[in-house]
This record gives sequence, structure tokens and C-alpha cells, in this order.
Amino acid sequence: MITTVRGVRDILPEDVPSWRFLEESARAVFSSYGYQELRTPLFERTELFARAVGATSDIVEKEMYTFADRGGDSLSLRPEGTASVVRALIENNRQRVLPWAVYYMGPMFRYERPQKGRYRQFHQMGCELFGAEGPLADAEMMAMVLRLLRRIGVEASLTLEINSLGCAGCRGPYRARLFAFLQTHEAALCDHCRPRLPHNPLRTLDCKGEGCRAVAGKAPCMKDHLCGACADHFQGLTALLTAMELPFVVNPLLVRGLDYYNRTAFEVTTTALGTQNAVAAGGRYDGLVAEMGGQPVPAIGFAMGMERLVLLLEAAQVAMARPAFYLVAVGEAAGRRGLLLAEQWRNGGVPVTMDLLGGSLKVQMKRADRAGARFALILGEREMVQQTILLKNMTDGEQSSLAWNEVGWERLAALIA
Ligand code: ATP
Ligand code: MG
Repeated sequence: MITTVRGVRDILPEDVPSWRFLEESARAVFSSYGYQELRTPLFERTELFARAVGATSDIVEKEMYTFADRGGDSLSLRPEGTASVVRALIENNRQRVLPWAVYYMGPMFRYERPQKGRYRQFHQMGCELFGAEGPLADAEMMAMVLRLLRRIGVEASLTLEINSLGCAGCRGPYRARLFAFLQTHEAALCDHCRPRLPHNPLRTLDCKGEGCRAVAGKAPCMKDHLCGACADHFQGLTALLTAMELPFVVNPLLVRGLDYYNRTAFEVTTTALGTQNAVAAGGRYDGLVAEMGGQPVPAIGFAMGMERLVLLLEAAQVAMARPAFYLVAVGEAAGRRGLLLAEQWRNGGVPVTMDLLGGSLKVQMKRADRAGARFALILGEREMVQQTILLKNMTDGEQSSLAWNEVGWERLAALIA
């Protein structure tokens, strides 16, 4: 037997209603804030991700699915969405018609150790907003994320965490201070953080290693070293969140490892999923578009992990789609008649699930029950003789016999209106 690849899953029909509910809710919320959908390719040139995500990031160094195509070009399956969106902005000249507000959703690929809420093919949805510089944009984006989480009914276990990463001006001196501090605690750091300390001391702040976390807890905070403009931006953001009555906590350990991420960083975390606690992550990247070869454009975005949201939804229970009408036809002649009647009803837009496996009335009714049908339409031997059909309400068991020429689609549609 050939199975799926490790860390890659089918989304089975019984789980699809949760996915669709999530997708449809997100589309409704994002578009109500003026975002339009962008669909980018599933694979890109490897150098796009090396530049945008960072050649020394965990994602690019250890997690990317990279391959040479038959022409010898190095390509990679996308590990995240922002790189492609920035490429599309520049390639399609959208910097000339700012703001550009887009959302995406779809599969991403990372070679990680699979566990609950962590897969090798997983799904993200996210938004990117180009052109807006002030804290209004940051605050609105967080309000949008929280509105979506509220709408799908999972906000109870969630916390919004924010931080400021400063800018090119104030982060340099802070980085030097942090480096000096971490150096004096070098022995306590993990094997991964110690060698990268000189070029990326910030990464130690969000390392999950025990030793690193203890040291990070005592490290100097970016928040206390912001320049005037960055401090104003952060203060503006917190004032707006407060005015909107959106609860948040400032987490000084929330960082991004790369230089083009600046000022606002935010995350939504949950207490309901164990160690896979990040549901959404976002922030400002005012330097990235220029880094990728475009005109400098301020930008902010976020991505949400859809598997993790679906896990949260399971607790909230999304109703499975139940068939409205389930057609049971016993015997060959009834099957032929049933198919014709079902097509007539479908012509009028009435949803009909016909039992195509056949068998006795009893087995077919059992399947109607298992499918959660609201009404069964039964064509048995007697009905074939009388040219009638038996309509059974599966909720209260009530039955009525209707002549074929009486059960037009209008009559059925009225029952489920
Ligand atoms: P983590 O710390 O959990 O690895 P990350 O920092 O790698 O997260 P981002 O790159 O910021 O995550 O991606 C945004 C969101 O995508 C995460 O908050 C998470 O919900 C989801 N996500 C990331 N990697 C995976 C994965 N392998 N499987 C499922 N969801 C994921
Ligand atoms: Mg990760």
C-alpha cells in the first residue's frame, strides 16, 4: 500500500465543513476591511525565499523543500506567503497604486518534525497591506484578526501579544547591548544560539530552549531602547488598541530575526493547543520591499495557521452539512423512476442525495439516518404500483404519501425553506 508522505494529510470529507467555515468566514471578514484575494504560485525560485525570509532563518536553512527542476534551476515549495506577495507587488507594479491590500490562503511546505498542530504540508491564510505607515494600520489589522477569531467562536482561549522591534536606527545600539549581555551568559545558551550569537543575538529571545529562556527573561528589552519615533508609534498603537477595547499584553521576548522587520510585531497565542501555541503571527516589514528590489514601501502583514484554527474549531463544533432529502428506491424499476424524479427536483434547485448502493428498505433507511438526512423520499414496491412516493420527516417520523405529479420541486423546496 502506498501511503501519504510523513507530515502530510488528507482533509477528509467529515472535516471539510470546518475548513470551509473557516475559509468563508475569513473571506467575509478580510473583504469587509477592503482586502482582495491574491493567488500566487506554490513554488518559486529558491532565492526569493532566501532573500525575503532570510538565508540564515530556520525556515530557509532547515525546513525548505528545495529541488532542481529539469532545466537545472533551484526552486522551492513556498514555506510561507509574504515573499510571493512582495514579489507580485513589485513584478506587477502595484506600488504605483497604493494602498495594496491583499489576502491569500493555501498550502505551505516546511520540513519539520510532525506533531499535533505541526505538519509538513500545512495551510496558512494571511493579509498584507502596503503603503500605510502609521499605527492606525497596525491597530486595524489586529482588530481584523480578532474579529475573525471572534466570528468563528474561538477567541476565548486566545491572547494578543505585541512588541516593538524598533528601526534600523535604534535597533543597532540595542543589539550591541543585548549581545554584550548574552555574551556574559554564553555558557547557559543552547548549541543553536551560541554560534549565531554574534550575527543574530535577537533570536535567543524567542528560543524555546530552557537555558536560553532563563537568560532571555533577564535580558535588556528593545522596548526600553526605542528611539522617539518608534516609541511614538508603539504608544500610538497601544492607545488605539485600548480605545477599541481590545485586550493585549506586551511581550518583550516577541521578536523577528531579520533586519527588514521593524516596529510592530504581534502574535495571537492560545492555551488550548499545548506547545503549538501560536495561532497567528504578524508585524511590520517596512524594509522588505526595497530589499527585494522595489521602491521602499511601508508594509504590515500576518499569517494564521489554519490547522491550528481547525483544531480550535473542533472544540467549538461546526455543524456538518446534512442532506436535505435522501431518496430511497427499492428495486430496479424504482431506481430508474427515482433517478428521473431526482433530476426533476434538482432542476428546480432542490438538493437530493440518492442512495445508489441499493438493497433493502431497511439498509437504505439506515444509510439515510447515518447521513443525517432531514427527509427521506421512499419509492418501494407499493409506491411503484400506486405511482406515489412516501415522504418521511426523519426528525419526528411523520409520513405522508404523495402522488408523483404532486411532488414538484416547489413542494419540496417549501419544506426546507
Ligand atoms: P512556530 O513557532 O509554531 O514554528 P513559526 O514562527 O514558524 O511558528 P510563522 O512562520 O510565523 O510560524 O507562521 C504563522 C503561523 O503558521 C504560525 O503561528 C502557526 O499557526 C502556523 N504554522 C507554522 N508552521 C506550521 C506547521 N509546520 N504546521 C502547521 N501550522 C504551522
Ligand atoms: Mg516554525
